[in-house]
Amino acid sequence: MNYDCLIIGGGLAALTCGIKCAGSGLRTGIISGGMSALHFSSGSIDLYGYEDDRTIVYQPFEKIEKIISQNPLHPYARCGMAIIQEAMRFFKNEASCGGLELYHNEESNHFHVSTLGTIKPTYFSQRSVFNEDIKEAFRQRPKIALLSFAGFRDFFPKLAAANLQKSSLFRHLEIITGEVILPMYSKTARNPHEFRSIDIARIFDSERYITNIAEQIKKASQGAVFAGMPAFIGITNYNKIYRRLRELTGIFVYEIPTLPPSILGMRIDDALKRRFAELGGEFIAGDRIVGGEIIDGSLDHVHTENHGTTRLRARSYVLATGSFFSGGLTSGFNILRESVFNLKLFCQQERNTWYSPRFLSTGGHPFLAFGVETDDNLHPFTQDGKTVENLFCAGAVLGHYRPIVEGCGGGVAVSTGYAAAKKIIDACRTSSQ
Ligand SMILES: Cc1cc2nc3c(=O)[nH]c(=O)nc-3n(C[C@H](O)[C@H](O)[C@H](O)COP(=O)(O)OP(=O)(O)OC[C@H]3O[C@@H](n4cnc5c(N)ncnc54)[C@H](O)[C@@H]3O)c2cc1C
Repeated sequence: MNYDCLIIGGGLAALTCGIKCAGSGLRTGIISGGMSALHFSSGSIDLYGYEDDRTIVYQPFEKIEKIISQNPLHPYARCGMAIIQEAMRFFKNEASCGGLELYHNEESNHFHVSTLGTIKPTYFSQRSVFNEDIKEAFRQRPKIALLSFAGFRDFFPKLAAANLQKSSLFRHLEIITGEVILPMYSKTARNPHEFRSIDIARIFDSERYITNIAEQIKKASQGAVFAGMPAFIGITNYNKIYRRLRELTGIFVYEIPTLPPSILGMRIDDALKRRFAELGGEFIAGDRIVGGEIIDGSLDHVHTENHGTTRLRARSYVLATGSFFSGGLTSGFNILRESVFNLKLFCQQERNTWYSPRFLSTGGHPFLAFGVETDDNLHPFTQDGKTVENLFCAGAVLGHYRPIVEGCGGGVAVSTGYAAAKKIIDACRTSSQ
């Protein structure tokens, strides 16, 4: 199998890169070992959310500008401001082509509500989480309802309400809590462990129960303007269901991300995969790249777990295998390793410096900033310090940033995935001239 570009991954970085390459006419393949961080995420894309002391960043681009000048090794510095801004516009447009409309508050961050009722700064949210109408209605200091489904154990409205009321944004608002009953679940005895957000979302990919649920939401909301509910409005038909709920209830139903699997994250995954396929990309799921051969500073071929010695070849390759969470990086008792090619890592060697003694330390854990070391063009280095000229790295496999402390995981994945694609497209154009 020969490609112009073969991407090893399957998450946000791989899909952003794949869409850009396929959309530019390159024969593009993505080979993905399994679920990505999207399936566990809030489904909002964080660009830059927090200062080091945990105060909130309201203007992410201004902050990134500073990061770029202070830390030239940060993945944002490798991209540059113009590419980051271009990447955000590109991502919003391509998600929309895949059926997913994203909201952003011009250049500023906005907030979304977590399952526990804390509020988080973010850059892109799905329109069922935040949009212009919600923003406008919120200015009127509305009454808010937090509702769950009877028997659902991944969202506790009373806990979320108590936490929300600690925030200055919500402190003076009336927040009531309530419950709605899913008709089909009330009739069947079920194992509560199987009653997850994904089970509810599957029901709402069809409109069968929407009138019943709309009536219940209206009643349980007791005149509230907003009804915050665990994300449930389907994986594929959400635009229509969201509009219908608004029409039927007259209330703004807004979705709150729940524990994994995250419906909101799965929607991004679904929309991006759909868009990649529309553009002619080839997505190979359920196989892993286990190695490859680097000859004279260039990756010649790779091979997979399932296809044994069969060689996959491409002009350019992208490593977007994620961090420890997705297996892009692995650790043993005293060893840290990039999993596929054993590339050079940015990391600390002594095990007792990998983590902070305090689990919830505001500075986070050092190992979360570990990752592949690259040059300015996102090319990694082999252990003997040589760059691999046709291999690019993108997303969480990269080192030198702290996705949780900085609140920038999604933004780095989109920006570096896009930046790698641009470099590959340029290289292809140059070589075919
Ligand atoms: C639990 C969690 C929640 C998060 N929540 C948010 C959030 O709300 N907002 C936000 O902006 N960011 C969030 N982040 C951060 C952000 O989601 C990630 O930084 C970003 O999605 C990483 O994307 P990625 O494509 O680099 O890697 P990943 O999403 O980790 O994807 C890596 C992919 O590579 C595949 N893979 C690994 N090894 C191989 C191999 N050898 N061969 C083939 N495929 C392989 C994996 O199966 C996976 O599909 C969260 C991260 C985590 C872990």
